[in-house]
Amino acid sequence: MDPVSATTLIGTGLKAVRAIVDLTGRLKDAGAKKEILDQTILLQQAINDLQLVVSQLTEQSRSLGDKLHGLEAQQDLKKKLSFRNNSYWNSDDDPPRPYCSACIETKNQTVTLKKADDCRGRCPSCGQLYDDVFGSTSAAIQKSMKEAEVRRKQQEKEYW
Ligand SMILES: [Zn+2]
Repeated sequence: MDPVSATTLIGTGLKAVRAIVDLTGRLKDAGAKKEILDQTILLQQAINDLQLVVSQLTEQSRSLGDKLHGLEAQQDLKKKLSFRNNSYWNSDDDPPRPYCSACIETKNQTVTLKKADDCRGRCPSCGQLYDDVFGSTSAAIQKSMKEAEVRRKQQEKEYW
């Protein structure tokens, strides 16, 4: 059941409660009248609580949807990563840049390395230091990734 259907049902229930309260006003038996009103109050409270549960579940569902979307995006990115010089590189980045392998492998997070000096990179999240990820090493990795991409595209063309 989607949240809109649940909200519609709750609205129907609240309308029925109001109708019962109106009809109870016509009763002559004071004891029965009081009992019906007491039960109606309990029913109204249950519907209000249900409304709160539906809104909490709706929020939870939205939050889970956002998390799933984020995980799918991470998964798509991980498929594009290749492991070189102890770090991961994304061939779709232009120019390709290194990602922290420690964060990817332990926390499932893709964190771009920042330049620590001319050739070393540091993860801004976990602080891990990587040798040879910038400078000439970076240029060599970028060149080999572009060559691999060209080979992959040629193979695709030959296949089709
Ligand atoms: Zn890290």
